[in-house]
Amino acid sequence: MIEKASTIGAHILSGAVIEPGPLDELLPGWRDAPPPVCVPAAEDEFWFLTKTGGTKFPVIPPGMANHGNFIVSLGAMCAWLAPQAEALGVEIYPGFAAAEPLFDEAGAVCGVRIGDMGVAKDGSHKPGYTQGIDIKAKVTVLAEGARGHLTKQLVRKFGLDAESDPQNYSIGIKELWQLPPGRVKPGKIFHSFGWPADSMTYGGSFIYHLADDRVAIGYVSGLDYRDPEYQPYEAFQQFKHHPLVKPLLEGGTILSAGARAIVTGGWQSLPKVEMPGALLIGDTAGLLNVPKVKGTHQAIRSGMLAAEHLAAQEAPAAAGFDAKLRASPVMAELKKVRNIKPGFKKGLWFGLVNSAWETATGGLSPWTWRCKSDWNSLQKLAEAEKPKRDYVERTLAPRDRLAGVYFAATEHDEDQPVHLKVSNTDICVSQCAEEYGNPCQRFCPAGVYEIVQDEQGKRLQINAANCVHCKTCDIKDPYQIITWVTPEGGSGPNYQNL
Ligand SMILES: Cc1cc2nc3c(=O)[nH]c(=O)nc-3n(C[C@H](O)[C@H](O)[C@H](O)COP(=O)(O)OP(=O)(O)OC[C@H]3O[C@@H](n4cnc5c(N)ncnc54)[C@H](O)[C@@H]3O)c2cc1C
Ligand code: SF4
Repeated sequence: MIEKASTIGAHILSGAVIEPGPLDELLPGWRDAPPPVCVPAAEDEFWFLTKTGGTKFPVIPPGMANHGNFIVSLGAMCAWLAPQAEALGVEIYPGFAAAEPLFDEAGAVCGVRIGDMGVAKDGSHKPGYTQGIDIKAKVTVLAEGARGHLTKQLVRKFGLDAESDPQNYSIGIKELWQLPPGRVKPGKIFHSFGWPADSMTYGGSFIYHLADDRVAIGYVSGLDYRDPEYQPYEAFQQFKHHPLVKPLLEGGTILSAGARAIVTGGWQSLPKVEMPGALLIGDTAGLLNVPKVKGTHQAIRSGMLAAEHLAAQEAPAAAGFDAKLRASPVMAELKKVRNIKPGFKKGLWFGLVNSAWETATGGLSPWTWRCKSDWNSLQKLAEAEKPKRDYVERTLAPRDRLAGVYFAATEHDEDQPVHLKVSNTDICVSQCAEEYGNPCQRFCPAGVYEIVQDEQGKRLQINAANCVHCKTCDIKDPYQIITWVTPEGGSGPNYQNL
């Protein structure tokens, strides 16, 4: 198992309230020795927020109730799982980024190439340069999470999405806070929608109360948003200043922060999950259940199914996995909720009525709403609806994105090739500036993209060292000229308990 983070879990950012069913199957005794952050779900609250108040739902929408679930730190849970896998003989290599797929003579995937270490920004070799090794496998299982870098190439090469809709995404931004004693109610789960999102922007929050006076707080923005001025990071910071939330956080300290894309296309966007020599599982396949905002149980289930599929064969091969996954509970779960997220493309109120219908009928509608790519939903400045945001003045930390990056503890050697490849930077200062006002400066939660003016005129500056590997730029850039590639293994965020 190859992992690009410096340690297992250091690039994992999630909510996370998990459904324990698949973990019970995988590790029957886990409840006796649970992961370090693990609080049984106690009470659920679901709110519609206005700028100055809100309405609490008298009942929790079915599927969103969390009785029997657990609040965990998924990063800490992965670190807890790793030694257990190693004890069973799995070899785990953190600090190694799979930079490109390898193909055999017949064109089948036969492994991955690890990125070189010690390459300078100008491409020359620094002292200590090490060429990345090739790791060969009979079958390569891709589990890169949302918008996998190798998966993206392989979907294109093998036409895996020929019969599915384009994949969709949201961006989730999260912080972990330490609060004064007495405020936190361990096990409490708060979700909201409404303010600060306008009715045409899909947005919602979560606050999960942990043990030891800590809360995990986050905000999810659908990357199908239309307003080129929208800033997911600012929407999150505004949410923290809502009258229901600010008193909870005031006087507390932020411990850790980061951002990550969430895969939301669901059933109709699922590509073929097998190709010669390789399989897709978890979020890189697109298995997250959107109304539940839960993908961990689906990732574990699909991983187990892949393992069973491969172990059952004398000569392991990918063929047959796609049919197995589609016939499994993983897909049945996605089918039921397939129309819920696309309904919100027609606005909040239509989306809510549609959700109620789809939930009441258990997804039995004879129709399926289609998905289209997130990058082409952005309106041009001249024709944008420009919703009135009416944001409040902020006082809580962090004051801006750069201060936020500090809490992600992200580290990239500055002297390495920039891992955000922009294929045509002329577009940035001409067409994009005019048509969209350079939205990369706003959708990146880490302030990586800046249009600067110097002696040579306006140009795009890429502050690659700040990148938290969320993949939003690769998804939302309206010209699709940004490609996120793997930096040196071990670079990137060093998330603590996210
Ligand atoms: C803000 C937010 C809140 C969420 N809340 C919940 C929740 O409450 N409950 C829930 O069940 N789910 C939740 N999810 C979804 C859940 O986190 C995902 O469904 C789950 O993590 C998917 O697991 P995965 O293993 O497929 O991918 P990931 O967890 O993304 O793991 C992928 C791993 O692969 C590594 N990797 C990627 N590319 C490479 C490469 N080229 N080389 C080497 N390593 C690589 C990454 O560093 C990472 O460690 C949430 C997600 C977000 C972002
Ligand atoms: S550069 Fe791209 S991947 Fe990195 S933090 Fe910004 S939006 Fe996310």
